Amino acid sequence: MAKRTPKRPMVGVLLISTLWLFASAAGAQSPRALENGQVPLMTTPREKRVAIIGGGAGGASAAYYLRKYADETGIKPSITVYERSGYLGGRSTTVNVFDNASEPVELGASIFVEVNRNLVSAAKEFGLTMDDADKSRPEDVPERLGVWDGQDFVFTQPDGGYWWWDLARLLWKYGWTPIRTHNLMKSTIGTFLKMYEEPYFPFRSLSQVAYDLGLTNITSETGEKFLEANNIRPPFSTDIIQASTRVNYAQNLPFIHGLETMVCMATDGAMSVRGGNWQIFDGMIKAAGATVKLNTTVQQIRKTDFGTYVLSSKGKAPSLSPTVQEHEYDVVVLAAPLQDASITLTPRPAYVPAKIPYVKLHVTLLTSPHRLSPAAFNLPSDAAVPSVVLTTLGPDETPREREEGVGRAGFFSISTLRHVVNPSSNGDEYLYKIFSPARITGADLARFLGFSSSGGNDDDDDDAVDDDVTWIYRHVWRSYPYLYPRVTFDDPLLDNEGLWYTSGIESFISAMETSSLMGMNVARLVVDDWKKEVCNNNEEEEKVVVKAKL
Ligand SMILES: Cc1cc2nc3c(=O)[nH]c(=O)nc-3n(C[C@H](O)[C@H](O)[C@H](O)COP(=O)(O)OP(=O)(O)OC[C@H]3O[C@@H](n4cnc5c(N)ncnc54)[C@H](O)[C@@H]3O)c2cc1C
Repeated sequence: MAKRTPKRPMVGVLLISTLWLFASAAGAQSPRALENGQVPLMTTPREKRVAIIGGGAGGASAAYYLRKYADETGIKPSITVYERSGYLGGRSTTVNVFDNASEPVELGASIFVEVNRNLVSAAKEFGLTMDDADKSRPEDVPERLGVWDGQDFVFTQPDGGYWWWDLARLLWKYGWTPIRTHNLMKSTIGTFLKMYEEPYFPFRSLSQVAYDLGLTNITSETGEKFLEANNIRPPFSTDIIQASTRVNYAQNLPFIHGLETMVCMATDGAMSVRGGNWQIFDGMIKAAGATVKLNTTVQQIRKTDFGTYVLSSKGKAPSLSPTVQEHEYDVVVLAAPLQDASITLTPRPAYVPAKIPYVKLHVTLLTSPHRLSPAAFNLPSDAAVPSVVLTTLGPDETPREREEGVGRAGFFSISTLRHVVNPSSNGDEYLYKIFSPARITGADLARFLGFSSSGGNDDDDDDAVDDDVTWIYRHVWRSYPYLYPRVTFDDPLLDNEGLWYTSGIESFISAMETSSLMGMNVARLVVDDWKKEVCNNNEEEEKVVVKAKL
């Protein structure tokens, strides 16, 4: 819907001379001369003030594409990004192993794939190096990837890695089912990619575009049912596909919807940005020329009688004013899940996204000189444990929801990421990442790594470092929604004057790229509305001039 002309008195609509004065003072684009020598009336688009709340993939992409699209039209937005944390990237961020800035490791979103066209093209534009996601995986472990059901390894492969299933092995064990899965994934992702193109892009209704593309047929089913309908059954679905839905979304096939299930199998060309994926979003915000307010929490968005929005925000860093600041904007993009943003919307907008449950994911990063212990995985003492252990449910286990879905294995994944040198001992060690629904205790670590838990890393003091666990970093994320089957999704427009929302896409597909797609979509819709507004103003002005002449 086109943004309505502000009800504030408009300058320049009554007299031609006033109009031209206004235009030249603002440095307007020069008017095209008509054949008869006259010049048409054109309104200089006044500077648009845009606030973006959230400096993650969604907010950064909204800023970046807003600038791009607006540049094509001559409209000049001034963009301000509010970010309550002290960094840009949101759920895409790194921490430094041993506090060493040359050893960053992803704490949140770690990979993207070749069909993620926004991320890939932005990374290229900013000159970032994209590495194969398995580039640094240690070579000295014979088995690279295994799927463990809490008792036995149901699948292992010596080649490939976290993101690369070894097709030959899969075919050998599961017959043609992997090929059917791959083809189904390709056609599903191919359909999804149409959302980037006309006539589907831009879309005001995510539910509508998903329906038009037939994707609601897939989101309405559980992964289990969708796979069954396509003749993809256990053990391949439960061994391999469910291991993927668990490591990616902490959910089992009878609960996660079919589309997100297919996304989990779309790992072709898995990559990450050297030094951290957050650099893509940092680059986008820089390219947008946005003003960034870090450590600044937006507390309220209040709509004024003029159709503008006043944001109340508060800084939390010592250098920032602790008092509440108020700033007025024409357009506001909320690029964070509303339910976690602690923002009051006044008055209540036309549409308020419903609360949905999010996964509470424990991420544990640690270094140790020890390899994963065979005993922890019921293997003989001389056996090698795969460097990446994904998990699934045992055939005797009933799939459950939420935290209980983890089952007997107790964790979703343990990945040996790479070798690191411990600066204290100069010793060569391993860097591990564990995803789990509950805190990993010192006793768990002792079991996984095969050391005695009588040292510092016991339950009483499981953050202490010693010779067995030499560095540890824990974080609990609200990582992604529980992706239950559904056919409606929160639309991007919350209020028709210009309050937009990007996070509704998370219950459709939750990933950096889809947040970016929604940021891009919102940017396109906002600029299209501005263009309509300019045209409407021009028409109004032409009418006024004609009247004046009469
Ligand atoms: C452990 C983990 C692993 C993941 N792995 C992958 C992966 O491999 N690949 C992938 O594509 N995706 C992955 N994801 C998902 C991906 O991280 C998210 O889908 C994506 O980053 C979401 O981006 P966003 O911009 O929509 O939200 P966010 O990144 O959450 O950004 C929202 C921002 O808004 C800020 N904010 C919130 N409220 C306010 C307020 N009131 N005022 C100011 N600022 C506010 C927040 O601080 C935050 O920075 C993973 C997520 C996690 C947690």
